[in-house]
Amino acid sequence: MSDLKLVDIKKTYGKDTTVVEGFNLEINDGEFIVFVGPSGCGKSTILRMIAGLEEITEGDFYINDKRMNDIEPKNRDIAMVFQNYALYPHMSVFDNMAFGLKLRGKKKSEIKRRVDEAAKILGLTDFLTRKPKALSGGQRQRVALGRAIVRDAGIFLMDEPLSNLDAKLRVQMRAEISKLHHRLGTTSIYVTHDQTEALTMASRIVVLDKGQIMQVGTPKEVYDMP
Ligand code: ADP
Ligand code: ADP
Repeated sequence: MSDLKLVDIKKTYGKDTTVVEGFNLEINDGEFIVFVGPSGCGKSTILRMIAGLEEITEGDFYINDKRMNDIEPKNRDIAMVFQNYALYPHMSVFDNMAFGLKLRGKKKSEIKRRVDEAAKILGLTDFLTRKPKALSGGQRQRVALGRAIVRDAGIFLMDEPLSNLDAKLRVQMRAEISKLHHRLGTTSIYVTHDQTEALTMASRIVVLDKGQIMQVGTPKEVYDMP
């Protein structure tokens, strides 16, 4: 179960650069929320505040009614995939996916079980011993997703994960990410500036501009379709 609640969130950098203000949003368990809006409108900043990578200046953030503002990233039930999904070039696919679990002191047998399972879901089973440079762009992106899903988190944050892929691959990965979301039963938040991605993946779309919410609704409501 992962409900999220953001109450009157404000984010400022330095003294007078306000990038998010008056931000209120409730996200229900199992939703696939897509943030859309022009570059610089604050999408990544909100995601990073949810992940705990960026301090919340004012307001309250809750997961399942527990206030999370001061909880360290590693103690949040959250996995995140970034736009620039740098893989460790000298490590195999297996070790890339296992890295975070090793850091958290998981047992070898559990690491193997989780990585094998993620590899199966993502079609990477035959590539586990390869180095990233011996993979295609789509396979690399799957490893980046795998690195996140092995954490078995209830909340999955994705910041433009497909923007470095070509158009054909983007379409394919879009469908794969939607499937992954349903299969894992996570609450997902996905940042993009691509309307088609929002339209095809979202249960609800949040339209942002200048750090504020312009509109929230289903794809049908937001894009005013018959
Ligand atoms: P995007 O909009 O795709 O998230 P940006 O190019 O805006 O990427 O930002 C990339 C990185 O640079 C982010 O980590 C962001 O925090 C940082 N950044 C963006 N704008 C500034 C700024 N004015 N001062 C310092 N860091 C910034
Ligand atoms: P988006 O993801 O929608 O492209 P961001 O959240 O990356 O937007 O950035 C929102 C605004 O905050 C931008 O104007 C950006 O320049 C600014 N910003 C981001 N990070 C920093 C930072 N570390 N210092 C100052 N300004 C920043």
